[in-house]
Amino acid sequence: METKVFTTTEISAAAKLLNEGQLVAFPTETVYGLGADATNVDAVKQVYLAKGRPSDNPLIVHVADVETVERFAQPLSEAAKKLIKAFWPGPLTMIFKLKPGALAPEVTGGLETAAFRNPDNAATIDLIRTAQTPIVGPSANTSGKPSPTTAQHVLHDLKGKIAGILDDGATEVGVESTVLDLSTDQPAILRPGAVTAEAIEAVIGMPVQTELHHVGATEVPKAPGMKYKHYAPNAQVYIVDRTEDWPQALKWAAEQKLQIGVMATDQILSVNQLPANCERFSLGSDIQSASRELFAGLRHFDTETEIKDILCQSFENKGLGVAYMNRLNKSAGQTHFSV
Ligand code: AMP
Ligand code: MG
Repeated sequence: METKVFTTTEISAAAKLLNEGQLVAFPTETVYGLGADATNVDAVKQVYLAKGRPSDNPLIVHVADVETVERFAQPLSEAAKKLIKAFWPGPLTMIFKLKPGALAPEVTGGLETAAFRNPDNAATIDLIRTAQTPIVGPSANTSGKPSPTTAQHVLHDLKGKIAGILDDGATEVGVESTVLDLSTDQPAILRPGAVTAEAIEAVIGMPVQTELHHVGATEVPKAPGMKYKHYAPNAQVYIVDRTEDWPQALKWAAEQKLQIGVMATDQILSVNQLPANCERFSLGSDIQSASRELFAGLRHFDTETEIKDILCQSFENKGLGVAYMNRLNKSAGQTHFSV
């Protein structure tokens, strides 16, 4: 199958494919999503096939307005309304109880709830409005690999497997949305993202559960996605915890026979001399740029060079750093460089 690349002036052609039940990848402020008509079961099934995604891991439904959520979900709580007002459009996905049978089990993973999000990307909102249907959108990557933050990343994984892709350049946030479960009495963050627990608590005036326990293979996880391997490049990633650990880490790198990838901020890269066998990938200057570039860096070392080991900088586990460290820990399989 030919994968057509659409510019943001070709929305109606992209929407037509969605209406025909085909798959079209789309940009958001976080990462690129793999779009299909959420009300077309056959189209939704194709999403799982194209990604190689386990069928019990449900999809996020992307909407252009709150009215669409109200069509499928049970009446929204006051907290939900406040959060929608504060953070939509934006990187906050919320899980609501559905009206019985409102969405196919292929979308919900057989649950009585579904995840909804209103992405902050004008072209994608236009696409959803033009198609006149909500669209499911898991990240547009092969399941288990780092999420795509450019159209080129999507093509690398899915070229020939999907009908189209709407290209709007590199995404801004770089890590996926915060997933907040509002279907139970106590709101719980199932996946950290750019909208932090503190920001949510400030809006709803009640505590948010954030404990993300590790889920065993036989246990039923709260967010089905929790039990699967994620964000893993082919190379082994080692997390470098402290600024003062870098000289030691680079000394170790210099002793290796193979090339080593180094992902760090400009500050770290400028004060440490990189050995000849190291290739650099800048994470920019702060946690914002590091979150935006994390997946791009992991993909860079996988596709453009023969690198088997990557050293990557740690950030403080607060604010956006919680989401960054969540993704980095998963891509590294919790492996740290130890001095
Ligand atoms: P992705 O589509 O890869 O960005 O991941 C979406 C995340 O939301 C996954 O971790 C899913 O398991 C989770 N998710 C989606 N729908 C639900 C739901 N109804 N209940 C719990 N978690 C969900
Ligand atoms: Mg994903």
